[in-house]
Amino acid sequence: MPEIRVGYGFDAHRLVEGRKLVIGGIEIDFPLGLKGHSDADVLSHAVIDALLGAARLGDIGENFPPTDPKYEDISSLSLLELVKIKLANTGYQISNIDATVICDKPVLGDLKELMAQNMAAELEIDPWQISVKATTTEGLGFTGEGKGIAASAIALITEVVSEEEEEEAEPGYEGEYEDE
Ligand SMILES: [Zn+2]
Repeated sequence: MPEIRVGYGFDAHRLVEGRKLVIGGIEIDFPLGLKGHSDADVLSHAVIDALLGAARLGDIGENFPPTDPKYEDISSLSLLELVKIKLANTGYQISNIDATVICDKPVLGDLKELMAQNMAAELEIDPWQISVKATTTEGLGFTGEGKGIAASAIALITEVVSEEEEEEAEPGYEGEYEDE
């Protein structure tokens, strides 16, 4: 049986003036943007941490250090692409991802589907394998007060098993149908 592993990610960024608001690779028309070393795409970051965690590859900060100038203002979608490669190198493939963006504003509505499609394209998976949801905290806490946006994600990954290995694992029927 191929090994199945689960990973969890959480992220939050502060909303500030003078920054673009990018969530799930989509630039959203909003007076404030998320502060961070990269584009501060909170949703992509939570998904990245879930995938890295599932494969026991450390966290986003260890893999893409904020002290490294090459990640300054980088699109987090390209970080997702790097994670896709790391995951493939460890011999796992993505089964599915479920993510939630936590903010009272902006209202994400139809953008959620576009975010899922964007991230799926970068990870080279079917959009059906990634779900993006949104929730509010009804005015409570930093997300409710509009001071920041948070996101959480869970990812399931499955060991890639070659056809030969699969055959070895499940002894075939050679011999049972002899001399018919
Ligand atoms: Zn982040």
